Amino acid sequence: MALTKLYDNHGRHINYVRLAVTDRCNLRCFYCMPEEGIKYVPKDALLSYEEMLRLMHLLAGMGIEKVRITGGEPFVRRDMLYFLKELCAINGIRKVNITTNGTLTEALVPELKAMGIHSVNLSLDALDKGRFFEITRRDAYDQVMGTYRALLEHGISTKINAVVMENKNIEDLIPMAMLTKDDPVGVRFIEEMPFNGEGSHYETLAWNHRQILKHLQAHFPDMEKIPDPPHSTSYNYQIPGHQGTVGIIAAYSRTFCGTCNRIRLTPKGMLKTCLYDDGVFNVRDIMRAGATDEQLKATFLDALGNRAKDGWEAERSRQFGLPVQESMSTIGG
Ligand code: SAM
Ligand code: SF4
Repeated sequence: MALTKLYDNHGRHINYVRLAVTDRCNLRCFYCMPEEGIKYVPKDALLSYEEMLRLMHLLAGMGIEKVRITGGEPFVRRDMLYFLKELCAINGIRKVNITTNGTLTEALVPELKAMGIHSVNLSLDALDKGRFFEITRRDAYDQVMGTYRALLEHGISTKINAVVMENKNIEDLIPMAMLTKDDPVGVRFIEEMPFNGEGSHYETLAWNHRQILKHLQAHFPDMEKIPDPPHSTSYNYQIPGHQGTVGIIAAYSRTFCGTCNRIRLTPKGMLKTCLYDDGVFNVRDIMRAGATDEQLKATFLDALGNRAKDGWEAERSRQFGLPVQESMSTIGG
């Protein structure tokens, strides 16, 4: 069986899948989607729950231990709790994590806890209600904060993801870092990536990981570097006396590719071996054409045998060219 474990051509062991279960979303975060939204994938073109569960069984047999459910907004997809329960029950999957915008999640938190969801990443880019509205183009701040409190009350390990954006939320960075004072939360500041569905991005990123760190250190001179967990995408810090931690994710600068342990499946079944590639093969099409489990396994192994060294190489090799046109809601982050 050792031969069916997932290693790439650079010797990196893959044990983590990010599964985007829908491209639909009820927010319009300006760094992710244009105001008018995107052309959604027709429902019958989405991977069905049965197809996703088959894939996850198969990948668990190949050493995948951790799955992150993302989107689009996972909780806009009907019967999501059914799917999550089935996923949590798969032998070999040790951690099921979710990334959510938190708008529809508060009432579901007790069930997420009961089924054994390992952790939740909540996207929240501003603590100021007005700036939250400007960024997400929707009035959903109270619902998201309700989810945040419910997650902590139920003892679900929680991280906040905040994309850092010039002229949008810089005033929020310090208040957000201050959440770690009383709450056992990981607040992670993310460099803005080009996946806004508009094909536009800055020539140079004003708020790269160095600039974010400088800003935080200016306010918290005692902030200490703490060890980063294996395969972590964030550089992690703690302010003395605070319960939670602060992280910085160099998602645009791509400093973490050397230890990347993850693959991605998009809502319509494209396998991405890197966030910055444009998809390697469509697993949905192969399944719907009648592929056996053995054929599917061979295709995954083959794809990983040709993986880009890092996100820069993956971006240069895109068949659909540059600039990147996709919305992050079609990838999952
Ligand atoms: N809708 C869910 C949410 O917002 O948490 C899950 C999907 S969303 C695409 C996953 C993550 O990608 C979120 O944390 C979001 O902030 C991040 N993201 C989206 N577009 C991004 C961009 N252009 N640059 C950096 N992060 C981005
Ligand atoms: Fe929706 Fe998440 Fe994209 Fe915001 S970041 S528009 S919540 S998918």
